[in-house]
Amino acid sequence: MTVLKMPNATNAGHELLASALASLDRAAKAIGLDPGMHRFLQQPERTLIVALPVTMDDGRLEVYTGYRVQHSTGRGPGKGGIRFHQSVTLEEVQGLAMLMTFKCAVTDLPLGGAKGGVAVDPRRLSTNEVQRLTKRYTAAILPIIGPEQDIPAPDVNTDEQTMAWIVDTVTMMTGKHSPEVVTGKPIDLGGSRGRTDATGRGVAFVTLEVLRREGKESAETRVAIQGFGNVGSVTAKSLALAGCRIVAISDVSGGYVALEGIDIARAIEHVRRNPARTLEGLAGVSRISNAELLAMDVDVLIPAALEGQINRENAHEIRARIIVEGANGPVTNDADRILADRGVLIVPDILANAGGVVVSYFEWVQSRAQFYWELDEVERRLEIYMRRAMELVLAKSKAYECPLREAAFIVAVERVAGAITKRGIFP
Ligand code: NAD
Repeated sequence: MTVLKMPNATNAGHELLASALASLDRAAKAIGLDPGMHRFLQQPERTLIVALPVTMDDGRLEVYTGYRVQHSTGRGPGKGGIRFHQSVTLEEVQGLAMLMTFKCAVTDLPLGGAKGGVAVDPRRLSTNEVQRLTKRYTAAILPIIGPEQDIPAPDVNTDEQTMAWIVDTVTMMTGKHSPEVVTGKPIDLGGSRGRTDATGRGVAFVTLEVLRREGKESAETRVAIQGFGNVGSVTAKSLALAGCRIVAISDVSGGYVALEGIDIARAIEHVRRNPARTLEGLAGVSRISNAELLAMDVDVLIPAALEGQINRENAHEIRARIIVEGANGPVTNDADRILADRGVLIVPDILANAGGVVVSYFEWVQSRAQFYWELDEVERRLEIYMRRAMELVLAKSKAYECPLREAAFIVAVERVAGAITKRGIFP
């Protein structure tokens, strides 16, 4: 069995930032962006690094490093998730914050881009330790977050529970009930219906749109999905419901394959019941490695785990004709070139996984208005935003005769630069 070649932590973050910058540079060149504006967009507006002391259950003091980066607030308050992962670095958070700016712009949300993270493996901590870490991190970044400044949300290894702890911390520290400070909250704390499934539903929506345009029936489509967390599992569920055959799935425990199609509802239930929250032990499937999953002969490959998974070392092994980026930055800049030369169609992250931030925006609107929408209203509006963004990106790709990633960045950079120019540089 092949062992998964994980890009090492520092490299993956570095590659992600380099890829985001390369995409910005290509779009800037295509539209003849003003060089000063280009330099402004290459840098984050604000970076905060915090030391986080946490008393562990056994009384020891551990210290973690946390980050919050606001890349651009040109079009509105910063928006972006918080990641708890051992490989989090400043460069990674900067790259992810930049992607958020352009993701919000491509979907035309009145929001900027930000991201946060703590370098920690939360699986090694108890729930109480993670709660203390989250609350200390929130207190440390409180000076720069808020519903009109920067609104965090869940990302890798954080969820609605994490968001509830953040709401509690801000409420305790300000004396004001503050649900609108984050999105991705539990529904009974002011969360939006449909938020948990939004990213995966959006990924499935763009996948089905691409298949339709390629003249491919979903029933004859074989799909492999890397990562079975929030994004991967909901994408799998939605595509299976639409009739696609999900032949392989994976998570941190490895890959699982069944060429006749995996029963996704059963896989989701398996993860829910498994104390390790992984696919380990799933019945009725064969085991493969994550590396083997990426190289499978499928119609659609959906990397929905971490960045840098498809890189210069394995790009030549990819056999899928369509890649839909469920994760942020799963295809490095080098791999992007190699795959483009081979005619592989890549739906870029800033379009493909934008469903999450679109419904986060809806949640922010609902929390501020204290008026909550029904699920069908959320889903109807999500589809409008995704369809509009997709059509615009396809049209730009045609007009500029360029890949979808470049087209998406052109749409986004034009909007961000346009907003900053209209505001006029301060002072
Ligand atoms: P998650 O923590 O819910 O799930 C991550 C999944 O990846 C888990 O199944 C985990 O086991 C798996 N994984 C971790 N390391 C792996 C490895 N080495 N090989 C294979 N699988 C591995 O996270 P998520 O929210 O689903 O996020 C996944 C990706 O999607 C990230 O890149 C994130 O930034 C991006 N994203 C998330 C959202 C959202 O709304 N949650 C929105 C947009 C983009």
